[in-house]
Amino acid sequence: MLWLVKNREQALPALLEALDAVSETLVECQICGNVDTSDPCGICADPRRDPKSLCVVEDVADVWALDRARLFQGRYHVLGGKLSALDGIGPDDLNIASLMERAANGEVEEVVLAMNATLEGQTTAHYLAERLDEHKLRITQLAHGLPVGGELDYLDEGTLAQALRARRPVG
Ligand SMILES: [Zn+2]
Repeated sequence: MLWLVKNREQALPALLEALDAVSETLVECQICGNVDTSDPCGICADPRRDPKSLCVVEDVADVWALDRARLFQGRYHVLGGKLSALDGIGPDDLNIASLMERAANGEVEEVVLAMNATLEGQTTAHYLAERLDEHKLRITQLAHGLPVGGELDYLDEGTLAQALRARRPVG
């Protein structure tokens, strides 16, 4: 890093060019909303992933946090945010319609609601649990023990793994 600072005149243009190339190849997965270099993303396209388990997260960073250590063997669904009356974000602003379609595809048996332990995250989880209730699914959420206000992408892998292992039914 120090080298970069000292030699930024030469190094930065090359670095920026490399970053630019990466950002141009990134696409949003039309199935799950993850961001990857291919669509469907590497996770959706991986046949070793368990199609019976679907983990719903707020943001792409949460997928990366959970998938860093392969904590979850199923597939993901990225909402692209959370319900927020304050910010005027309602169900139609999030990837909820596509989630309902996936949940009803007959293949999914468990939906894990892995929202952040914030008020808005939990409001979103409750809303989704109610909407998903019509399908005969096991709906679980991450175990408490997540720090209040805790955002998934800031948690260490041990805490995340524990919250996933001890997940419990909603309600
Ligand atoms: Zn995907």
